[in-house]
Amino acid sequence: EKLSEILQQWEPDSSVTPQQPNNKIYNAADIQSALAHHELVNYYQPKVSVETGDVIGAETLVRWHHPKDGIILPDRFIRIAEENNLINDLTHQVLQQAIAQAKQWHEKGLTLRIGINVSMDNLASLDFQDFVVNLVTENGLPPQKIVLEVTESQLMGIDTRIPLEILTRLRLKRFHLSIDDFGTGHSSLSQLRDIPFNELKIDQGFVHRASEDDTLRAIYDASLAMGKQLGMDVVAEGVEDRNDWELLRQTGCDMAQGNFISKPLLPDDFPRWMEEWQNKVHTELIVAPK
Ligand code: C2E
Ligand code: MG
Ligand code: MG
Ligand code: MG
Repeated sequence: EKLSEILQQWEPDSSVTPQQPNNKIYNAADIQSALAHHELVNYYQPKVSVETGDVIGAETLVRWHHPKDGIILPDRFIRIAEENNLINDLTHQVLQQAIAQAKQWHEKGLTLRIGINVSMDNLASLDFQDFVVNLVTENGLPPQKIVLEVTESQLMGIDTRIPLEILTRLRLKRFHLSIDDFGTGHSSLSQLRDIPFNELKIDQGFVHRASEDDTLRAIYDASLAMGKQLGMDVVAEGVEDRNDWELLRQTGCDMAQGNFISKPLLPDDFPRWMEEWQNKVHTELIVAPK
């Protein structure tokens, strides 16, 4: 193992195809370099209507196409970017790519809602709001087609007064707001009532296998009921198999996202997936009439 690591250092692979997983820990300088060389690439994971199968939107999920180490997933660099004051630059790059992509899709008549993950640290000053508003306006996109996803655990952090104020302002400008990874934070009903969210995403940990596990099922049901009561679109994340999908159909969840529908895709792969999905949905997945 040691030897292969050493060899890797001496013989860097210049391709960006997935390779042996490495357990290298990246630091601020690595991420700074990724930003300077535009090595972050957006993938898009479809969100579909459970009732009709229609493709409603896509969530932007960033990957680092590292010149030597292959494709690196966000869990290995987002937190480090947050801790080193690099998350604003990172989010700006992700947003710029996502908005350009959304514009292309909208021009082709594919009017997807584009979800973008926003870190609490992005919401520390009004600069972020100005950046988003300008970018979306310049590109002529309707703000209600841009969905800003914030995780429940970050929302329930210690000093959330300013972030919540910024989110509220964005909501007043017609952007859509989403609570991500719902069930993993500790929000109370009264806190949620005050936040103008449009969408609630049930964390994948409470979706996959919820039809077979009573505890998961109880949390899934409660989250769905609460989202609906508060007038939000409810999205189930981590839909991995047919059983998961059938549970969403039976319980009336609004939208589904997960590998059963599609893994995160590069934009070039989106049209082919859409064609396959439309076929599958109407031949296999939706038996009941619309
Ligand atoms: P998230 O926003 O909850 O995104 C969903 C994660 O679940 C993604 O992981 C996605 O690839 C994964 N996933 C999708 N379908 C399935 C499935 O069927 N089963 C399972 N087990 N997993 C599935 P990913 O892409 O590794 O992203 C991890 C987290 O990193 C995201 O969680 C999000 O919090 C964060 N992230 C991603 N992109 C960005 C970004 O641009 N900015 C910020 N601040 N955070 C980001
Ligand atoms: Mg998300
Ligand atoms: Mg999530
Ligand atoms: Mg997550």
